[in-house]
Amino acid sequence: MKQSKKRPFAKRSLGQNFLIDDEVISKIIASLRLKEGEPVIEIGPGRGALTKGLLAKGAYLTALELDREFAPRLRDDFSDYDHFDCIEGDVLETDLAGLVREPPAKLVGNLPYYISTAIIQKLTGERHLFSQIVLMLQREVVERIAAKPGDSSRGFLTVLVEDAFTVEWLFDVPPTAFLPRPKVWSSVVSLVPKVSEISDSELLRTIVSTAFAQKRKTIFNNLRNRFADAEEILKAAGIDPSRRAETVTNGEWACLVAYIANKKEPPE
Ligand code: SAM
Repeated sequence: MKQSKKRPFAKRSLGQNFLIDDEVISKIIASLRLKEGEPVIEIGPGRGALTKGLLAKGAYLTALELDREFAPRLRDDFSDYDHFDCIEGDVLETDLAGLVREPPAKLVGNLPYYISTAIIQKLTGERHLFSQIVLMLQREVVERIAAKPGDSSRGFLTVLVEDAFTVEWLFDVPPTAFLPRPKVWSSVVSLVPKVSEISDSELLRTIVSTAFAQKRKTIFNNLRNRFADAEEILKAAGIDPSRRAETVTNGEWACLVAYIANKKEPPE
């Protein structure tokens, strides 16, 4: 690796909190269990804290960075590596299939927190490209995506993620591991893609967002705003209408989607 030039200041608007804790960096990279020559995508390499370790492990790495100051720097810093490229672009606007030459790849990122939930939603739809995804997120977001049925932090994102991935909460990271320090604790999570039990992911999103619209209401009171026969639908799917959406399991969501998909088209 070449000597870096003077580093630009962190941009809060781009969620730039750079990792400075070598132990945390090593644990993230170890959690990917990389093999020499394995294709890896990194979201938001920034100053290259993870990039350096990934390349040292023999990853064939494509990084995607929005900040135009970083991409040419990283290409220069890591020009000794034949299998490294840094693309300039917005992850939310990028077709990840175009970056993964030989799927499945692994994906890793200390995500910019201001768009972390949008990135996770995007990854659920593109998970067939990946064998494992390891993300640093706000701890509060990991609490949400790992929440079990009955847990009050369960919501729309939980159901989408649970349907798409096997989730493993790996470890927590204090603010002192970053520069500048974020206000909140972070956590690292591993997501291993799985085959969905639910055939129609668009219908799942529609039903779940309706069911969680007002979290304190019962699932029946939320669903009736969109489905005139909400009570009949819930009973047919084996769900007591007086329950709240946060208590519904993945298998029960699957029954609900299957019943609605077979019986009726949801209203526009
Ligand atoms: N990976 C580095 C580290 O761990 O030190 C930087 C992580 S920092 C939390 C998030 C990175 O994502 C920043 O480099 C930021 O510029 C980049 N970023 C922000 N928004 C992005 C977007 N929409 N698409 C791609 N990268 C983005």
